[in-house]
Amino acid sequence: MDHWYHLYGGSVSRRDFFRVGRDLAGLIALASLPGDVAAERRLAANPFALGVASGDPLPDGVVLWTRLDPSAVGGAAARVQWEVAADEGFKRIVRRGSSLAPAELGHSVHAEVDGLEPGRDYWYRFMAGGQASAVARTRTAPALGSSPDRFRFAFISCQNYEHGYFTAFRHLAAEDVDVIVHLGDYIYEKRFLSAPTVREHEAGEVFTLDQYRARYGLYRADADLQAAHAVCPWIVTNDDHEVANNWAGAFAADTTVSSDQFLLRRAAAYQAYYEFMPLRRTSLPHGPWMQIYRRLAFGRLLRFHVLDTRQFRSDQACGDGSKPRCPEVFDPARTMMGAEQERWLADGLHGSDARWNVVANQVMIAQTKRMAGGEAIFSMDKWDGYVAARNRLTALLADPKVVNPVVITGDIHTNWVADLKADYDDPSSATVGAEFVGTSMTSGGDGNDADTSRVQGLNPHVKFFNARRGYVRVEVEPSRLTSTYRCVPYVTFPGAPIETRGVFVVEDGTRGVQA
Ligand code: FE
Ligand code: CA
Repeated sequence: MDHWYHLYGGSVSRRDFFRVGRDLAGLIALASLPGDVAAERRLAANPFALGVASGDPLPDGVVLWTRLDPSAVGGAAARVQWEVAADEGFKRIVRRGSSLAPAELGHSVHAEVDGLEPGRDYWYRFMAGGQASAVARTRTAPALGSSPDRFRFAFISCQNYEHGYFTAFRHLAAEDVDVIVHLGDYIYEKRFLSAPTVREHEAGEVFTLDQYRARYGLYRADADLQAAHAVCPWIVTNDDHEVANNWAGAFAADTTVSSDQFLLRRAAAYQAYYEFMPLRRTSLPHGPWMQIYRRLAFGRLLRFHVLDTRQFRSDQACGDGSKPRCPEVFDPARTMMGAEQERWLADGLHGSDARWNVVANQVMIAQTKRMAGGEAIFSMDKWDGYVAARNRLTALLADPKVVNPVVITGDIHTNWVADLKADYDDPSSATVGAEFVGTSMTSGGDGNDADTSRVQGLNPHVKFFNARRGYVRVEVEPSRLTSTYRCVPYVTFPGAPIETRGVFVVEDGTRGVQA
C-alpha cells in the first residue's frame, strides 16, 4: 500500500484510483461527442478570468485547478494545456500535460500532477486556444519520513462577500506560508443582515447548480482571493454556507423542506464546490455525497486530519438556536462526524508518526457558555449541542498515545484561544489539547477589539477572545507550535493594514496553550 492509501484512508489504491480516473475521463469523453471539443480553436478572449489554484500537496505532486469562462470557450468541452516549472520564468519545465475541461463540470480542470520533488516550490500556468493564464506558485509537501525543522500555514474561514473586502487575503498572500487551510463558508448562499451590505451578490439565495456556479464565480473573480490562491496550495473543507445555513446531515434548517428536497440541493452545491476547489478526484461528489475528510502529511513534523462535521451529523438538538440544553444534547446516539469518520479519526491519530497532529475542524469544540434570563445558554449548532459526541472526541484526544493534538476551527466569526478540557464545568479537570479558533475573513463586518475578560468569567478555559477580521498564521517547529492572530481594523472599505492581535504557543509534549 502506498502513501496515497495511507493518507486518504480510502479503500482504493493509487493504481485503482488512476483506473477510476481513466474510466471517468472515458465517460466524459462519451458524454461529449468528439466534435464538441474545442481543441485547437483560437480563443478571442482570455478564458482564465477566475484565476488558478493548487491544492492537497503530496511529496511528489499537487492538484492544479482552473476553470474556463464558458462565454470565452462556448458550450463545448475545451482542451487545456498545463506546465509546471522549477523556476518562475519557465526556463526549466519539469512536467506538462493536457486536461479536458468538460461542460458537465462547468469547464473546470483538476490536473493531478505527480513526479515532482518533495518540499520545494514550483510554478505553473495553463494555456488554451492561444491564451495563457496567470503564473502561480505551488509547493510540494516534504518527503514522508523527513523531519523538517519548520512549516508554516495559515487558516481562514467565513468570507461573506457582501460584508466586506477581502483585504486580509492580500496580506496573507505576502506571508510566505507553505499551505493555506480553508475551514468553510467559502461562499454565502444568501444575504445575511448581521452586517451592512458593502458590495452585492449577483443574485439572491442560490439553489440550483447554475446558481451556485454563479455565486462561486462572483467570489472567485475577487483579485485579493485570487492572489492568495496563487501563492501556495490550499487544503479546503466546507461548513454550512457552501450549501445552506445550519444544515445537518440530510436535514435543512428549514423544516418545511424534506430531506429528499434538501439532498437534491446539496448535490448541486457539492458539485459546484468541487468544480471550484483545487480538490483531487477522490473528492468528486456522487450526488449529495462527497469525500471531504482526509489526511495530509508534511514529513514527520505535521499531519492534518481534515474533518467534515456537516455531512454525517445528527440534526441540531432542541430545535437549534442558542438555548439552555435539553436532554437530547447528551444523547450518545447523536453524532457530529458519523461513526465511520469517528473511527477514521481515532485510527489516524493513533497511527500518526507526526510530532504535531492538527485537526482541521469547522465549529467550535470548547464550551462557550453565555447567560440569558438567568439561564446558561449554548449554541446548538456547535459541539456544545453534541455533548456526548464531544465527550468521545475528548477521550480520544486525552489518550496519551495521541501526540500533540491541536485543533483549528472556523465558523464563529471571532478569534478564540481555548484549552480543551475533560470537563468544562470543572477548571481543575485535565486539559486534553488546544483549540485555535480563527475569525472570519469578512463575515459580520468590521468587528472590534472585544475584551477577553468578558467571556472568561463563564469560560475560564478561554485564553483569548477578539472580534476583528483576518486570519491565523501558524508556525510549526519540533519544539513548539505558535499561532499568530493577524487582523485588519476594517473590512467595509479597501486598503486596511494588517496587525498582530495575539501570539500563543503550545509546547511539544504539553496539552493546552502555554500560560
Ligand atoms: Fe460563517
Ligand atoms: Ca458556518
